Amino acid sequence: MATEQVRITVFDTTLRDGEQSPGCSMNHQEKLRLAHQLDRLGVDVIEAGFPIASDGDFEAVKAVADVIRRPIIAGLARACQPDIERAWDALKDAARPRIHVFLATSDIHLQYKLRITRDQCLAQAREAVSFAKSFCSDVEFSPEDATRTDPDFLCRVLEAVVEAGATTLNIPDTVGYTVPSEFGELIATIRRRVKGIEDVTISAHCHNDLGMAVANTMAAIAAGARQVECTINGIGERAGNASLEEIVMAIRVRHDRYPYETGIVGEQIFPASQMLSEITGVPVQPNKAVTGRNAFAHEAGIHQDGVLKNPLTYEIMTPQSVGVPDSKLVLGKHSGRHALAIRCEQLGYQFDRRALDDIYRRFVRLADKIKHVEDHHLLELIRDTHKPAASATPLFEPLPNAVAAAANPLAPESPRPFPLAPQTNAFGAPLPVPGDQHHDQEDYLWGV
Ligand SMILES: [Zn+2]
Repeated sequence: MATEQVRITVFDTTLRDGEQSPGCSMNHQEKLRLAHQLDRLGVDVIEAGFPIASDGDFEAVKAVADVIRRPIIAGLARACQPDIERAWDALKDAARPRIHVFLATSDIHLQYKLRITRDQCLAQAREAVSFAKSFCSDVEFSPEDATRTDPDFLCRVLEAVVEAGATTLNIPDTVGYTVPSEFGELIATIRRRVKGIEDVTISAHCHNDLGMAVANTMAAIAAGARQVECTINGIGERAGNASLEEIVMAIRVRHDRYPYETGIVGEQIFPASQMLSEITGVPVQPNKAVTGRNAFAHEAGIHQDGVLKNPLTYEIMTPQSVGVPDSKLVLGKHSGRHALAIRCEQLGYQFDRRALDDIYRRFVRLADKIKHVEDHHLLELIRDTHKPAASATPLFEPLPNAVAAAANPLAPESPRPFPLAPQTNAFGAPLPVPGDQHHDQEDYLWGV
């Protein structure tokens, strides 16, 4: 009997939780633009906003609900009638609407924030979910601060809202406090103890205050959660939410440990990351997993040499699989000769052994002074070293912008994609890169 892949629902909250992070607010048009990209990315649910929070939020949720028809569109509401009515007003024309109701359940929130008792909390959660259900068949409930809630009480609340008609139970680690083993146990406890749980979807919503949002989410999946709440680039309140791209690629790359599937189109990950960054003006940290500028950059010579021979030596996933146009080999003082030769070829020059030695010596001296050797530096260096020399064979006319950059070293340096180069044969195996054994050996010496 063929076993069907278990599908993980990807619930993107970039437009709601993500938008709440400092510097990441978006206007109506920007939200709509990003929502289209989230649709292309293949997310299952778009949480478009918190309609009662402001008129702008209401209009944005409504616009997304009216225009984006494939994914479920969710709107957030506190557990009270005006919020739920406002959310429904914004969502009612959606092809697939979802009302997402939340209410804090931890004693600290009940006592200091809401000033209600546990019994009042239980009753309010039940009533709010029934009320939401009177409008919409798809109702998600989140017990805010679940990871600091007494598990017995948490299970009672969850049971009550399942009875009232909730179809997704989202377990938020609102303050980013939990650790993977603990969070996995909590999900397992909920699955074991809440009556009716087998008919609803358990979801994880993790914050990154201790840098464990993705790890906690993965633990939840392993324990039976089938929806993950996440954001592009991991943006969100404080240290952010679990990052969509990291969860999705962890599932893909480690399919042996996480035998699940998502509807995400990998090649749309990087475009989504870039679009968000462009809209908010908040850059992605360079070493951010999957979408950072350096995520596929290799500087150490030994790594560069290996990657050029076969990307699998140091790459667990290809840049192309997440939509990064090409891998970047950063040329710095740790770079080997092999990488330098490839870059020269890409700039239109092929050197014989002696000429390359010459260029390489100068390159290392330059790289010692400046951190990263950009194309225009390299072009200058080539021109200075080999004023039309017989040993330098232009393969083709250098690219016009490379020439312009070389002519004007003060021109702003736009990061230029650096193709990874290794051409592959029909079976995906890299073709040999020109170079003799001796040459390769020296690369390793330089690299280490
Ligand atoms: Zn959150």
